[in-house]
Amino acid sequence: MPYYLFEESSLQVRIGKIICLARTYKKHAEEMGSVVIKEPLIFLKPASSVIFDRQSIVIPERAKEVHHEVELGVVIGKGGKKISEENAEEHILAYLLGLDITARDIQQEAKTHGWPWTAAKGFDTFCPISTVVTKEKVKDANNLSITLKVNDRVRQSSSTKNMIYPVEKIVALVSEIMTLERGDLILTGTPEGVGTIKPGDVIDAELGDICSLRVDVIEEGANKL
Ligand code: MG
Repeated sequence: MPYYLFEESSLQVRIGKIICLARTYKKHAEEMGSVVIKEPLIFLKPASSVIFDRQSIVIPERAKEVHHEVELGVVIGKGGKKISEENAEEHILAYLLGLDITARDIQQEAKTHGWPWTAAKGFDTFCPISTVVTKEKVKDANNLSITLKVNDRVRQSSSTKNMIYPVEKIVALVSEIMTLERGDLILTGTPEGVGTIKPGDVIDAELGDICSLRVDVIEEGANKL
């Protein structure tokens, strides 16, 4: 199955690496009992975890506790390595709203042992994304409201202005480690309010007035009606 980002027919970009950041909002780090360190943590999700608006998150049999995390996504248009903060903007193609779905019990076990988070973060359907919005249509990515509701109840409500690192700094930091290529997606970390999702839940998320995303939650083996 090919994975594409769509905004309009003229914009078809294959999704490359999905680079996720953690500990980029102080209050979320605190609610997880973590400390904010000098730089955000970085991990990867596979492109096979992507689903789109109106599709379903599948709760895996082996996960006992699955959490939502709503995040601003940055889509890279022009590749580069060691991109400076000053030049970061010209490498950005678009923004989107993404969910970094996490098997929290599996992640906690990994943290205990010092193991990577790949299993906790990498299940199929664990990366729902909205359609993209090209950067020209976004006034200020560092000042967008970001909200997530489960069954119409607000769970997460913040602003990207509460991120410890502006988007430009994030692009610079990631590109110090790995070459960024067209179609790579950076999920910039979640604000506070993460919580459990269960089969039957409906998740609605919004990024300013530019992106929205609705997905529901089903258990493994269930057929969507
Ligand atoms: Mg996250």
